[in-house]
Amino acid sequence: MAHLSDHLTPTTLTPEETADRMPWVYLDYAASAPVRPEVTQAMLPWMGLLGGGNPSAVHRAGRRARAAVEDARDQIAAALGVTPLEVIFTSGATEANNLAIYGAIQAAQGEDGRSLAMVSGGTDHPSITKPLAYLAKRGDITSTVVNPAPFGTPDCGVIGAAQIADALSPETVMVLGTLVTSELGAIQPIHDWIDQAIFPDYGSVASKAGPKVGNPTRSGPWVHLDITQAIGKLPIAPFSMAATDQRITSLALSAHKVGGPQGVGVLAVDRAKSIISPILGGSQERGIRSGTIPVALAVGAGEAVALAVAEQGEEATRLHTLKTQLLSALAGSGWEPTVDPANQIASTCHLTKAKVDPDTTMMALDQGGLCVSAGTACQSGAVQASSLIASLSLPEDRATVRLSMGWATTESDIAHAVKVLTTIA
Ligand code: PMP
Repeated sequence: MAHLSDHLTPTTLTPEETADRMPWVYLDYAASAPVRPEVTQAMLPWMGLLGGGNPSAVHRAGRRARAAVEDARDQIAAALGVTPLEVIFTSGATEANNLAIYGAIQAAQGEDGRSLAMVSGGTDHPSITKPLAYLAKRGDITSTVVNPAPFGTPDCGVIGAAQIADALSPETVMVLGTLVTSELGAIQPIHDWIDQAIFPDYGSVASKAGPKVGNPTRSGPWVHLDITQAIGKLPIAPFSMAATDQRITSLALSAHKVGGPQGVGVLAVDRAKSIISPILGGSQERGIRSGTIPVALAVGAGEAVALAVAEQGEEATRLHTLKTQLLSALAGSGWEPTVDPANQIASTCHLTKAKVDPDTTMMALDQGGLCVSAGTACQSGAVQASSLIASLSLPEDRATVRLSMGWATTESDIAHAVKVLTTIA
């Protein structure tokens, strides 16, 4: 019988040796990446006898746990280009996105009964779209969702600054965006959104949108950016609060997308902001996220984010080569990229093929030992078009597949994927 340690990846293994130990070909990193061996090593001491301290306790065990959490906070702050005070540990990007939305509403509600309009992208994760739809249904806000360019156009999957500008009004208190769209790997031109749409006259007159929500000293809406799929894939620090002169108010991420543990993420939020959280309790994390900080998870998140950001440039080059190999091997097979690879991160490949059944495609891929995704894994176990895929107006007879690579992906994984994909008639 296999022993648990057979599946732990010692730090001494190369990515190729690691891939050899995997019982399947795993190309679903955008859904969740395998935990990196360095991360497991960093977390282990916090899961044994010495890991018992509550970081809020004043005794020596508590102080030791607190120091480990603060080291992890420093790692994440340095990787994102924010200050440690701005890093709030959460259970993941879902919680971080929800907290930012409630935080912006509170900040705006302080300003005598103004109507609250929110603008978001059709490329956002359900942890943004669903709270906004719920709040709009309750009549608390009005919500405008800006859809990306449809399938068959050069900018398929991308939302341009002009469309964001059209959606803004003087009532806009919050703009939400996702730097890299989970399903497609499409990169959104967030700096264009900021410079051309949200703060077009920045430096001279106030923003077109409503006043003083993002920061008490700054006019303009709260701008929240989900960077979950962008960490380790693109340089992140240019999107920090400081780098954007406080025009970005908050960032959300989840550690498991970059080889960290599941169940931990970060809301990085402008230190000028206080959020009265819907979760009330022990007032940890500036009172924004009450609950005992999970030391092992925070340590794992710090290590994973630091490694991903440090290795970003080199990894992008390596994975770009693998993606080019994949696309050229699939030429003529009927599988074609949904999104122009020039608008997409190197590690994700979203493919579509006409006249094949989506359900049988997924079954064939699974039977071929290939772990890939059809829609977003987090939405359901069933193959069902997500609202994003529906917004691209793909013809109904088309199957779609997302292959996403990461730290342990090798050439032989790509060769296997080509073999299985080309058997689907
Ligand atoms: N945002 C994006 C862009 C994501 O890809 C995901 C995970 N699929 C989330 C948020 C939510 O992350 P989690 O499930 O870890 O909370």
